[in-house]
Amino acid sequence: MTPQQPRSALAQTASTVPPRDREAARLLALWVDLTVRLASAAAHHSSDEPSLRNLQIQIEEALVDHLADSDAVMAELWAWEATLLHVVEMPPETCLICRKARLGLPADVPLPAGIGGVR
Ligand SMILES: [Zn+2]
Repeated sequence: MTPQQPRSALAQTASTVPPRDREAARLLALWVDLTVRLASAAAHHSSDEPSLRNLQIQIEEALVDHLADSDAVMAELWAWEATLLHVVEMPPETCLICRKARLGLPADVPLPAGIGGVR
């Protein structure tokens, strides 16, 4: 399995989700944002981790209700989450993944147009 695989499955999912399903798009964007923060909190032992993880689980449950093929999408999302490897020995200030997030650079998850990738 390569980190690139989520692209194809998310793109396929786009064709099955009505573009008007703004709630799914909103939830997916929220999940991505939250998961980036959670990965940082978990890697660097932040006290925010439990609350971020609870939020992530709630959003995942909502996403499952809103997606036509939620099993496939969630599998891709979790595979992507596993690629968010932080340098645990470093403080967040020098960890490259944290720096990327602080700078507002894309988290490298190409969201399909139908569910939030494109306006
Ligand atoms: Zn980090």
